[in-house]
Amino acid sequence: MSSTTLRAERPPAAAHPLSAAALRYAANGWPVFMLGRSKRPVALCPPCETARKTKTPHDPQACPCLTCHGFYAATTDPHRIAAMLTAVPRGLLAIRTGAASGLVIIDVDPRHDGAASLRALMDRGLTPPTRYVRTGSGGLHLYYRHPGHPVPCDEGRRLGSGIDVKADGGYVLAPPSPHPDTGRPYLWADDGAQIRDMAPALVAACVAEVRRRAPVRPAGNPLPPRSGGAISHPDRLMSALVARISAAPEGRRRVTLYGCARGAALIVAAGHLTSTDAYDALVSACDAAGWPWAKSTPNAIRDGFAAEGVTL
Ligand SMILES: [Zn+2]
Ligand SMILES: [Zn+2]
Repeated sequence: MSSTTLRAERPPAAAHPLSAAALRYAANGWPVFMLGRSKRPVALCPPCETARKTKTPHDPQACPCLTCHGFYAATTDPHRIAAMLTAVPRGLLAIRTGAASGLVIIDVDPRHDGAASLRALMDRGLTPPTRYVRTGSGGLHLYYRHPGHPVPCDEGRRLGSGIDVKADGGYVLAPPSPHPDTGRPYLWADDGAQIRDMAPALVAACVAEVRRRAPVRPAGNPLPPRSGGAISHPDRLMSALVARISAAPEGRRRVTLYGCARGAALIVAAGHLTSTDAYDALVSACDAAGWPWAKSTPNAIRDGFAAEGVTL
C-alpha cells in the first residue's frame, strides 16, 4: 500500500468498505473471495499461470495462493480475508456457493423474463419466501440452504428463462459490492426473512436432466436444445475467436467482439462452456490484445450472447 494513488482512491485495508460484510459472511461459514472490479476472477499469479499454460497438474483447491483460481481461493479465515482486501483493494466481494458455503442461490434476471419465470416457480410452490438480495442490475438473489447433495449451477435451462442457479462450482457477487456496469450496490432486502431450506420440488428441478425439456416455460426458454455434437471442436472454435479479437484493428474492435460473442454463445448453447467462462475468455482476449477497458466491452459481449439467446 505504498502507492499514493491507491490511497487516494480507497481507504486503508482496515477500513475497507467490504471488510465488515466479508467478515460477517465468513462468520456465517460462507467462504468469500475477491473478484476484479469488472466481475472477473483476479488474474493468476505467474507460477499458477505457467502451470495452466503448460497443463501441469495443479489442484486449484489445494493451491495456497491468496487470490488465484477464482472461487477456489474463497476462505472464512479473517486473516486471509484482510489480506485479500489489501491485495485487491478495488475488487468486488463474492461468496462461493454450493456445499462449500451451504448455499444455493436462485438468480432472477428481470431482463430475460426472470420475473415471469419466478412467478411460475412461486405458483408451483418451488420458491417459498427466503432471505434475498436485490442485485445491482435490478435482479434478485434468493438464498436457500444447500440440500447436502450436489446441485449443479444452471443458466436458464432448468428453472426457466432468466433464472440461473448458483450452486456447486459457482459464486455470487455479494452485498454491498457495486454492480460493475450500473455502479449500484447489491443490497440485502431487510425483511427479516431467514434463509430457508430448498423446497423438495426445487431440488428436483435443479438436478433434473436438462437435455430432454426445460421444466418451466419451455416455450420461452432461451436455450433451445442443441446437439452437443453440433460443434465438433469447441476448443479450436474458441481459439479462433480469441485470434480474431487479437487481430482486430482499432476501429473494428466492438463489431469484432460482438461477432465473437455470438460465436462463443453458440459454444455455450451447445453445452461445451458456461456463459461465465465464455465471457471471461472473451474479456481476457481483449485484455491480452491491449484493448483499454471500456463499458462497451461487456455490453458487446452481452449483446452478442443475447442475439443467440444466451444469458450471462
Ligand atoms: Zn497462484
Ligand atoms: Zn495455483
